[in-house]
Amino acid sequence: MIHTNRRVFIFQAITASTALLSTQAMGQAKLDEKDPQALALGYLNDTTKVDGKKYPKHAPVQKCANCQLYAGKPADASAACPLFAGKQVAGNGWCTAYVKKA
Ligand code: SF4
Repeated sequence: MIHTNRRVFIFQAITASTALLSTQAMGQAKLDEKDPQALALGYLNDTTKVDGKKYPKHAPVQKCANCQLYAGKPADASAACPLFAGKQVAGNGWCTAYVKKA
């Protein structure tokens, strides 16, 4: 019973955190590709425009919407990313910190 309550609490905490991030994302400006942090991480709004020679580990199927760090739902056009505080990244975007969602 204690384990079940702990699991429920952890699930609720994660759900609340995700909802908070989504709420905070509303009204945020979109990340500019020329932002210094974006440039440092090779961020682009369109994953199909990524230079495969410069980033050989990139694959066209990789995009923010299916990245572990994307705070929105996969169908959202944009959402927050913890790497770019206060900004929204494009669902079709990509950066070198991409991690496939489990
Ligand atoms: Fe997109 Fe993931 Fe990079 Fe954030 S870490 S910008 S969600 S690819």
